[in-house]
Amino acid sequence: MTEEKKNKKNYEGADQESLQLLKKMDEHGIESSYDRYDAQQPQCGYGKIGLCCRHCQMGPCNVDPFGRGPSKGVCGADANTIAARHLPAMLPPVLPLILIMADL
Ligand code: SF4
Repeated sequence: MTEEKKNKKNYEGADQESLQLLKKMDEHGIESSYDRYDAQQPQCGYGKIGLCCRHCQMGPCNVDPFGRGPSKGVCGADANTIAARHLPAMLPPVLPLILIMADL
């Protein structure tokens, strides 16, 4: 990999206006969420698919959806239960957007 390619930041998903802002921030050494995302790599694969549970002190528990590892957490929660438990925690930030899109 060339040095230029290594230093090129991945601003995937940013629109043109945001891209301009992100480039300016980079020029001025201001950290963005893209920088923080890069610093977190590699992220936990279980967490990314919602199958890392930390609801109680017996965890964290990871459930393997591919059948090669544990299929239940210490408490007996399976993948569906763990994913469903995460839903209420994930909804509040996007709920206003859902209500706006649903025109409620
Ligand atoms: S899967 Fe069950 S035992 Fe494991 S952390 Fe979650 S609630 Fe606790």
